[in-house]
Amino acid sequence: MRASLGQLEKWDKRYVWHPFTQMKEWNAAPVVMIKKGEGNELIDTKGRRYIDGVSSLWCNVHGHRVKKIDDAIRRQLGQIAHSTFLGLSHPPAVILAKKLIEAAPTGMSRVFYSDSGSASVETAIKMAYQYWQNKGKKQKKQFVKLKNAYHGDTLGAVSVGGIDLFHDVYGPLLFKTIKADAPYYYRDTFKGSEAEYAEHCAKKIEKILQKHHRRICALVIEPLMQGAAGMLKQPKGYLARVRAITRKYNVLMIADEVATGFGRTGRMFACQNENVSPDILCLAKGITGGYLPLSATLVTEEIYKAFLADYGRFKHFFHGHTYSANPLACAAAIASLDIFKNEKTLEKLQPKIKFLTSALASLTKMPHVGDVRQAGFMAGIELVQDKAKKTPYHLREKMGFRVAGAARQKGVMIRPLGNVIVLMPSLSITASELKKICGVVQSCIQKETE
Ligand SMILES: *Cc1c(COP(=O)(O)O)cnc(C)c1O
Repeated sequence: MRASLGQLEKWDKRYVWHPFTQMKEWNAAPVVMIKKGEGNELIDTKGRRYIDGVSSLWCNVHGHRVKKIDDAIRRQLGQIAHSTFLGLSHPPAVILAKKLIEAAPTGMSRVFYSDSGSASVETAIKMAYQYWQNKGKKQKKQFVKLKNAYHGDTLGAVSVGGIDLFHDVYGPLLFKTIKADAPYYYRDTFKGSEAEYAEHCAKKIEKILQKHHRRICALVIEPLMQGAAGMLKQPKGYLARVRAITRKYNVLMIADEVATGFGRTGRMFACQNENVSPDILCLAKGITGGYLPLSATLVTEEIYKAFLADYGRFKHFFHGHTYSANPLACAAAIASLDIFKNEKTLEKLQPKIKFLTSALASLTKMPHVGDVRQAGFMAGIELVQDKAKKTPYHLREKMGFRVAGAARQKGVMIRPLGNVIVLMPSLSITASELKKICGVVQSCIQKETE
C-alpha cells in the first residue's frame, strides 16, 4: 500500500498508540517517521539524516543495515521464518545457545529463550521462585529489589522495579517485595571515597539478607548501571560485594543485563567487569545487534538441574512463548556475535570510550550540569536547575526533552530520561560521529538551560 507523507501522518494520529507517550501531545505535533537506516544514521521520510545517539533505544550494536546481519537473516528466511521451540528444535537457536554460554560469565550453563527484556526477567523470576519450590525450601518466596530499578513493563518485572513515576499506579496489582536502597552517590548524603561508598551501600543489602534470608528467594539487580533510572552508576566493587553477600546468605542473584549486555560497558557483559557470575542472567536489547525481538535467560547448571525429575512429579518449567527462539532473530544474533569476534568490536571500542570520557569531563563545568555518569559506552548527564543546591528541574518543564528536541534539529537523535540526557550510541559509531554527538549535546544543553 502506498501512501503520501501527509496521509501517513494522519493515519499515525488516527490509528496508532505509541509507547511511553502522552498521545494528546503527540497528536498536536509533527511526526518524524524513520524510513531508512544507514550505518549509524537514521533517515526520515523527508530525507533528513540523524546520528542515532541512543542506538534505537539501547539495542543497536553494529549499526543499521549491516551486510553480515542482513545476509544472515535473508539466508534464514530462505530456510524458514518461524517454527515452534516447544517440542521441536532448530539449528540457529542451538548454535546461538552455545555461543552465548561461551561468551557469558563463567558458570552460566543453559539458555532459555523468550522475546523481550521484560519476558526474560519474568522468566528469571519464575525460575528463581520455582527453583526453591522444587528444592523443598518452600518458604523462600520473596524478592529483594533495588530502589530505582527498571526491569521491564510486564507485571512481574514491574513488581521488582522501583521507579515510582512508572510503577506507582499499578501498585495494587504487584506482588510484595523487599525494597533495598541503591547507590546514587550524587544525591546521597554519604561522604567518602568510592570504595567506602561501595561498602556502605553493600552493607545495606547485607542487613536485609541477614534478617530475612530464610524467606528470600533472589535479589534482582542491574549490574554496574541502573539504566532507565537515569544512568545511575554503582561504585566500583559494589557488584562484587553484593554477589558475595547473596552467596553467603544462600540467595540467588538475578543479573538483568538487558541494557548493559553486549559490549555496552566496554566488556561483553557488565558482570565481567567485577568477575561476577550471577545465578541467572537476563539478556535482550543488543542480543540480535538490535535487529529483531529476542531475549534469553541464562542459568547455572545447579538451577537447571533442580527442574529435572520424572514427568509425573511436574517439576518442569511451565513457561514459554509462541515466538520463543524465533529462527530469524537467532540468525541475526549469531551474526552479531560473529562480528564481535571477527571485527574485534570490543577492542575498537576502547579508544571511543576514552574519547567519551574526556568529552563528558568538559560538560561537568557547565552551570546546569549537576552530575555526569559513565560506564563504558553508557552515559547520563543530569541537568539541574540550581547546581549548588542540586535542585532538579520540575518534570513539567521537560528540560530533557527540550535538549533532545534541539539536538534533533541539529541532526542528533537522543531520548532523555527525565532530566538526564542519555548518550548510548551503537558500538560502531565512528570517532567523528561521536564528536558530533558530544558537540551538539553540549551546545543544546547550553542553549536550553541559559
Ligand atoms: C529495556 C530493559 C528491560 C525491558 O526490555 P524490553 O525488551 O523493553 O521488554 C528490562 N531490563 C532492563 C535493564 C532494561 O533496560
